Amino acid sequence: MTPEEFRRYGKQVVDWVADYLSTIEDRPVRSPLAPGEVRDRLPAHPPERGEPFEDLLGDLDRVILPGITHWQHPDFFAYFPANASGPAILGDLLSSGLGVQGMVWATSPACTELETVVVDWLAELLGLPAEFRTDGAGGGVIQDSASSAALVALLAALHRASGGKIRDHGVTGTYRIYVSTETHSSLQRAGRIAGLGGENVRMVPVDPVTLAMDVAELRRMIAEDVAGGAVPALVCATIGTTSTTAIDPVAEIGAVCRAAGVWLHVDAAYAGSAAVCPELRWINDGVAEYADSYATNPHKWLLTNFDCGVLWVRDRRPMIDALSILPEYLRNTATESGEVIDYRDWQVPLGRRFRALKLWSVIRWYGAEGLRAHIRNCVELAARFARLIDADDGFELHPGHPFGLVCFRPRWPSSVPDPDAETLAAMERLNASGELFLSHTKVNGHVLLRLAVGSPATRAEHVEAAYRRIAAACQERR
Ligand code: PLP
Repeated sequence: MTPEEFRRYGKQVVDWVADYLSTIEDRPVRSPLAPGEVRDRLPAHPPERGEPFEDLLGDLDRVILPGITHWQHPDFFAYFPANASGPAILGDLLSSGLGVQGMVWATSPACTELETVVVDWLAELLGLPAEFRTDGAGGGVIQDSASSAALVALLAALHRASGGKIRDHGVTGTYRIYVSTETHSSLQRAGRIAGLGGENVRMVPVDPVTLAMDVAELRRMIAEDVAGGAVPALVCATIGTTSTTAIDPVAEIGAVCRAAGVWLHVDAAYAGSAAVCPELRWINDGVAEYADSYATNPHKWLLTNFDCGVLWVRDRRPMIDALSILPEYLRNTATESGEVIDYRDWQVPLGRRFRALKLWSVIRWYGAEGLRAHIRNCVELAARFARLIDADDGFELHPGHPFGLVCFRPRWPSSVPDPDAETLAAMERLNASGELFLSHTKVNGHVLLRLAVGSPATRAEHVEAAYRRIAAACQERR
């Protein structure tokens, strides 16, 4: 494709995306297709000769769009949002256009240095401690996901706990990590990848009402493990659990970690973005004093399209020591001078995209006040929905909805034999209607519906319509 052809088709693609976003509301939120339907409409073999780009655009409308679930739809309320925005999409396009591979500073200085500035900016916007900024011992880095951030934090924690031994000898001792029964599964998975399966991942129970980690149990488990000769390596506290956005008591957990010399990782994958609003910064109580690492995903709630997760560490040394290997083919004078950051040592893969461009684009376009307005709008819309649910005898509102997520369950008459199955069936009817998309979770053994407000296109009329549709779908079975 010549630059002129690129210009022509590029304009068509940008127009296509603009048309898509401006007509998104006309589409069913969830793709109605059955498994295999997209695949069946695609040729089984690749073309021998190149095809006109128009043909691809035609197939995009004909084959791909029907198989899309529209995450940017204002009636998309499932999971956590995956925010996209104009400036983020354009920033990502610029990154693709530059085609930079920023594994080390020398492979594109601006890729590294813009990232350093942007993650420091974000730390400031979120009110995170000065220790996380790059001019001290710590620093931030953009990862693809909170799962990768957790794995990197764990490797750093194991490095520190082993006094650097795992680098040369592998995981030879008995190391333990501590998560709650509500912690995201990525922590367990990070444990498995690092060779810590089974009983090396301790599941700390939670308070049955707040669903926050039981700190007394954590303290007891750590003492038990130390007495048994194991080495506690990492505790993960969550700010905004996946299931219900419960918040672990970070300060109390941190005090336990400090006393036992254990790494505290804070997973704020979704809710961390809320801290752009000063009135929501209480969620990070204890982080400044105790967190060794902290992760949040602008791709969940800060208008930045996937993928963009940020990990900050208080001390970058154990992370870099755990991950750094310098083969001959990567040697260069800048690295050897020690004056530059090579982010390849702050992540699992070697290669890295220029993700900082989209975050930079978002922060510059919206400014702090635009980002705050987005979070406040979602929190207010969630509160509006919660009030409607709370006022309706047909529903039970799960307590606590400080962010954009509201959890609730329909109340079914006692004649309904399996209330959870009935709730799931109602959700499936709603999702199949294409009018909105919800997801669910289970708390204390019972199904809850989850409605997460996150799309910048969602307005009061959408959450009110969601309430009416949900109420009607439940009413028809009562
Ligand atoms: N941690 C929490 C609290 C989450 O809610 C999620 C995903 O929803 C993750 C981690 C995993 O995020 P990612 O897909 O970025 O790995």
